[in-house]
Amino acid sequence: MKATLVESREIAPEVRHFTFEVSDLPELDFTPGQWVSISEIVRDKKTTRAYSLASAPSGNRFELCLNRVKEGLFSPWLFRLEPGESVSIKGPLGSFVPKLPFAESVLVATGTGIAPFRSFLQSPAVLDSHLPVTLLLGARYEESLLYRAEFEALERTRPGFRFLPTITRPSPAWQGRTGRVQAHIDSILGVRTDLDVYICGLRAMVDEVRSLLAARGFEKSRIIFEKYD
Ligand SMILES: Cc1cc2nc3c(=O)[nH]c(=O)nc-3n(C[C@H](O)[C@H](O)[C@H](O)COP(=O)(O)OP(=O)(O)OC[C@H]3O[C@@H](n4cnc5c(N)ncnc54)[C@H](O)[C@@H]3O)c2cc1C
Repeated sequence: MKATLVESREIAPEVRHFTFEVSDLPELDFTPGQWVSISEIVRDKKTTRAYSLASAPSGNRFELCLNRVKEGLFSPWLFRLEPGESVSIKGPLGSFVPKLPFAESVLVATGTGIAPFRSFLQSPAVLDSHLPVTLLLGARYEESLLYRAEFEALERTRPGFRFLPTITRPSPAWQGRTGRVQAHIDSILGVRTDLDVYICGLRAMVDEVRSLLAARGFEKSRIIFEKYD
């Protein structure tokens, strides 16, 4: 399938939010949490990378949230894409989706690992469940807390939703949580193991959070994760 870039905007240093449109289909049907693969010839080599859908299904449009990996091959190429240009995509793919029926959940993300959770948090399965949902989002700096305003707004409108951002390099003005997401698992969960924990981001963080949960006695089926590397 071909997807055409409609627009892209910077949402944090080295992070852009992209809106694409699939021209051959009236609708791109997917489940929040799934991803698409994008393939293009970059530096004379066919290159394919996975990107989580960062929006809920909406006609033939979909959104992505990408960070530019400095020494990377594909992400710097995608950052140079102009509106009107197309890429080849396959999908939707993957099974990192909300379990049904949706249970009380904690969502743990760092960086662009937030993408599938933005999709979760726009979907009726999660929003209309009326169950408590906590989003623990880690970033290095305040300006890198992706979609912060959206999640703060959701906290005001969706009862039971808690947004807990944490910063590893806070400015003196920052009054919220500090340190890595791993440091907040204990205080968020207390003694509980009877909820689902979804984790998304780079391997090191995902594996550390999984180990913390396993050590607390979490059942495997309650730890759902997606690794970006
Ligand atoms: C299921 C899945 C979903 C993904 N969804 C997203 C997404 O929504 N947004 C997104 O930005 N990336 C996402 N990725 C990562 C993406 O596929 C690429 O790996 C990333 O864009 C780097 O590609 P590259 O060619 O620029 O770097 P490469 O030349 O392939 O270099 C890879 C290096 O970049 C590191 N890396 C990979 N991903 C990231 C990242 N996101 N941030 C920092 N370092 C990284 C790896 O550890 C590795 O060292 C996803 C990966 C998977 C497997």
